[in-house]
Amino acid sequence: MNTKQPPTSLIMLFGATGDLAMRKLYPSLFRLYRKGKINEHFAVIGVARRPLTQEQYQANIMDSVQSALENVKLDDLKRFATHFYYHSHDVSDTESYADLKRIAEEMDKKYQLQGNRLFYMAMAPEFFGLISNHLKSSGLTDTKGYKRVIIEKPFGHDFESAQELNNMIRNSFEEDEIYRIDHYLGKEMVQNIEVIRFSNAMFEPLWNNRYISNIQITSSETLGVEERGRYYDKSGALKDMFQNHMMQILALLAMEPPISLTTEEIRSEKVRVLRSLRAYSDEELAENFVRGQYGPGTAGSESLPSYREEPMVDEQSNTETYVAGKLKIDNFRWAGVPFYIRTGKRMATKSTKIVVQFKDIPMNLYYNPQEELNPNLLVIHIQPDEGITLHLNVKKSGKNGTTPIRLNYCNKSSDKMNTPEAYEKLLFDSMVGDTTNFTHWDEVALSWKFVDAIARIWKENPEPDFPNYASGSMGPAKADELLEKDGNMWWPIEDFEIESC
Ligand code: NAD
Repeated sequence: MNTKQPPTSLIMLFGATGDLAMRKLYPSLFRLYRKGKINEHFAVIGVARRPLTQEQYQANIMDSVQSALENVKLDDLKRFATHFYYHSHDVSDTESYADLKRIAEEMDKKYQLQGNRLFYMAMAPEFFGLISNHLKSSGLTDTKGYKRVIIEKPFGHDFESAQELNNMIRNSFEEDEIYRIDHYLGKEMVQNIEVIRFSNAMFEPLWNNRYISNIQITSSETLGVEERGRYYDKSGALKDMFQNHMMQILALLAMEPPISLTTEEIRSEKVRVLRSLRAYSDEELAENFVRGQYGPGTAGSESLPSYREEPMVDEQSNTETYVAGKLKIDNFRWAGVPFYIRTGKRMATKSTKIVVQFKDIPMNLYYNPQEELNPNLLVIHIQPDEGITLHLNVKKSGKNGTTPIRLNYCNKSSDKMNTPEAYEKLLFDSMVGDTTNFTHWDEVALSWKFVDAIARIWKENPEPDFPNYASGSMGPAKADELLEKDGNMWWPIEDFEIESC
């Protein structure tokens, strides 16, 4: 792997007119181009159904970049857009792949791409297997350079469908050529979890059940399902967020230090965490997992509809828009430490944060009935703020006793730059052949098996109390009770923003 020379690649993008391509992929590629991380040796063949001329497609690329980014130099953008070619093609049409192959070969020569091909599936998941079969039978994967495929989420809707999809893709690609996107793994502060843990003498020795009381992971959104009702109503928060993003964060927080930072070593430690998850009985699942569905509410003067009133959602829907769970990891490091995870839509705040709560010190010398000593917290802010906060106790000058304070580090404000988009990093990683921040099949399989058990009991036992949380709240009361039973509480992450960020 040579990361010094900008990588060369032909990117064949299936779903070139879609929302993901327009909002994320084109601006991310432009940022790579502007920074010189890719140079003139790249080309994109955009594939979608709609007929478009080259000029229209290139104009779309320019619009997409200009609406996403500031300070775009027009000359750069125009030169960038000349690398994009459009092919109107229905992915189920076998004949049309021969045209794609011809165009790919032309691009390869014109831009000296050394036969390197990246196939990006930015389309509905039912097409992933079909496209991948066609890529092989048409000879598109028969190339002298690398061939890789990037698969968007969702990767299946349960273990069985994920395995079926995986088998189809494996007919055309080897495991190390498959880049399964979990865009949370491209986020700066998710990547920072390992650095915070493994490069600070003050954390790693404490990172275990002797010193940590519990760990809380929250990913809350303020938006509802918007126009994704048709997809979401079949999926729900458990499959849309928990199985992938939340379980990946959990694995990074709980894994043992890898012996080196290679993809294989990190992955094998993450897999060991997922294998150590306590497999609950049905009764335990019902006790340790809470589901929610949003009811109506208000945001300022605007009134918000309930989930069941959203477009393309069943009026009687039993789909959860919120999930909270208490997970246990049965190994020496974590025995006895609950990991509380929650994620939901239409909550009070848009935020992804991790709160690591340390155990209370053995004795409080400063006890005063009005003021209990606050536990130390390490807060990792993943989005929208990016940084860390340490909650400590000190004596403030002129005051007796203890005062809680916060030490903040803001990732953004430190260099006055926006951090790179997750997609920018992931696209680059896929071009240089680094699979570290993509999910391996073993991780996908284990997380689906864990989640399938919850989905099954929820399906067998519809929730009679839906909707059970108001839009604009932090979720159902039962999720609070889940922690109260252990003498814990969700930390008010809505008040934990870093002021200077
Ligand atoms: P979209 O519906 O906006 O776009 C779909 C694209 O596929 C369009 O370009 C359309 O022309 C093309 N297409 C559909 N049927 C086709 C056919 N038969 N032949 C050729 N082209 C066809 O979808 P999207 O929101 O861009 O999502 C794409 C994928 O990315 C999905 O798997 C989605 O789950 C995933 N994803 C999207 C986002 C996002 O922000 N939009 C985020 C995460 C994951």
